[in-house]
Amino acid sequence: MDDDIPYLLLTPGPLTTTRTVKEVMLRDYCTWDDDYNSIVTRIRGRLVRLALGDSGAAEADYTSVLMQGSGTFSVEATIGSVIPPDGKLLVIDNGAYGNRIALITERLGIPLHTIKQPETEPADFARVEAAFESDPDITHVAMVHCETTTGLLNPAAEMGQLCAKYDKTYILDAMSSFAGVEMTMPEVGCQYLISSANKCIQGVPGFGFVIAHRATFEKTKGWARSLSLDLFDQWHEMETKGGKWRYTSPTHTVRAFDRALDELDEEGGISRRAARYAENNRLLIDGMRQIGFQSLVAAEYQSPIITSFIYPDDPKFDFKQLYDAMKRRRFVIYPGKVTDVDCFRIGNIGHVFPDDIRELLTAIGAAVEELGIDLGAGAQAS
Ligand SMILES: *Cc1c(COP(=O)(O)O)cnc(C)c1O
Repeated sequence: MDDDIPYLLLTPGPLTTTRTVKEVMLRDYCTWDDDYNSIVTRIRGRLVRLALGDSGAAEADYTSVLMQGSGTFSVEATIGSVIPPDGKLLVIDNGAYGNRIALITERLGIPLHTIKQPETEPADFARVEAAFESDPDITHVAMVHCETTTGLLNPAAEMGQLCAKYDKTYILDAMSSFAGVEMTMPEVGCQYLISSANKCIQGVPGFGFVIAHRATFEKTKGWARSLSLDLFDQWHEMETKGGKWRYTSPTHTVRAFDRALDELDEEGGISRRAARYAENNRLLIDGMRQIGFQSLVAAEYQSPIITSFIYPDDPKFDFKQLYDAMKRRRFVIYPGKVTDVDCFRIGNIGHVFPDDIRELLTAIGAAVEELGIDLGAGAQAS
């Protein structure tokens, strides 16, 4: 492990970034100068190309916009800006982030149809279709792709097919999956895809972004329920003023993000990065099972991004103790967020490689022994 990384963040963002991404922040930029705005414009184009991949779709049919704040600000900007005054949103709530979209929608006073589901079950398309049939007011759909709550991956393209069939506009919160899982917007069928700087592109926190189907987005002028989170106005400023943001932008973060995009290219693009994450995740789940920890989500729906592990039966098990024992060994793991089951989470995205996962597993084995945790019948003899 790199010496200037005191510990590896095995969390779903902020995550471990390279030294070179952090280094480019050692320069100050002026928000209205061309040196900076040309970086913004370059980033916007790169994001569209990443979202289109090899789909063959025309770049001119899509566009992108960056928004200050953490990822939630971009979700709130999108929900608050792209649904018309007489629109209604259907939200899949099978985790904390889907639930957050529903809360945002309620708070903004936008009519809402929630499909509430257990956190371990993927989007139920029979229920979605029934809602479309019974509630013709629904104009838009929002779903989380990788529910970072559990690590469950909702079937994004299946939802896209249903939205196309019923002519609904589809917003995908791909915060923790974009650039970490192979997909393109045309094949998923969404008109809006939301993500942020500090997830699979491996930048540092400070802004989010939305990639949009241009013709759909261009109709949304004047719909925003907020000034600072007006997605259309922000986009219009960037589009017509050569990459300018409306209000002070996170210049250092933006510069780091551009560098992170270079490093994504250097790695071999999304397919190679997705393959690394998938390998990290496979090693993690297999290794944890051998130590005696069971993962929560069925293999079929498990994302290659983050994994929830169920607390062992041993009443002596205390997550905080495990957390501290792991941090001493230079790994930061993540508490759980599932409502009914006690879990902790381990992310495998960021500047993290299979050898790091192997070291992590050795460290967990040692921590379990140090803490005297009995993993019982779950542990395999091997
Ligand atoms: C990280 C994340 C967000 C945004 O969270 P912030 O803390 O606001 O950055 C939204 N949705 C999902 C699925 C996420 O993983």
